[in-house]
Amino acid sequence: MIFWHAPLTEKPGCAVVTFGGIECHAGIIADKVIIMTRMLRQYHIEMTRSALEPHISERALEIIIAANVRQDALHNQFGHDEIHYDNNAIEKGNRYINEQRGLALATLLSPGILGAWVAFGRMLHTAQDFYAHTNYIPLWLEQFDGTPPPPPEIDPLKKDLMRSPKLHSGRIYFPMDMVYFIKPLRPLALRLLPKDSHGWMNLDDPSKGPKFDYAIAAATKRTTHEFDLLKKLLTPEMFARFTDQ
Ligand SMILES: [Zn+2]
Repeated sequence: MIFWHAPLTEKPGCAVVTFGGIECHAGIIADKVIIMTRMLRQYHIEMTRSALEPHISERALEIIIAANVRQDALHNQFGHDEIHYDNNAIEKGNRYINEQRGLALATLLSPGILGAWVAFGRMLHTAQDFYAHTNYIPLWLEQFDGTPPPPPEIDPLKKDLMRSPKLHSGRIYFPMDMVYFIKPLRPLALRLLPKDSHGWMNLDDPSKGPKFDYAIAAATKRTTHEFDLLKKLLTPEMFARFTDQ
């Protein structure tokens, strides 16, 4: 997404990150200029921290978070639908997640560790974007005839929904999907954008209503799931190196 400024709450997040200094600069510059990002970095940081903090060292967590939010750097915004599940890149997004998980494993097979944290952080970004940029949340809610369970009860990996032919993600229509992020022009952009656009479909921030809470809950649970999956794939020694504890 594009947003006008970096909220003050993001700056402490930048300050603690020891990897990816470019992101911190971007956050500060962003007070003055428009920069592009997707789901606000504040939520990527909060979700990742909330899922992993009890299980991993602060040093590892900071690097994972830095790699996660760096996925929204400008050079990853164009021609990289797989990173954000944009433009119906469902298969490509799934493949990207598998590749990054494989990269984390391959790094841990060697004495290296930094590459594993970076790959895991990249993967988490895409996994979290899945819930903000596809219609997984609306499909899940549709099952309950208007009285869905509360957000913490969402299943982030319901098999029939993950494989549903109805599953799709927002298409980016230039230039109106860019105009959408200029808040005063948002109503105009939405009048002109089709319903399958990123502007209409995204659940990137609380302005999108109650579905946003389900997107956050699902993405946080998915983050935990990815950590648990990695644990199953690693030997105890590799897992100890990964958690750095
Ligand atoms: Zn993204």
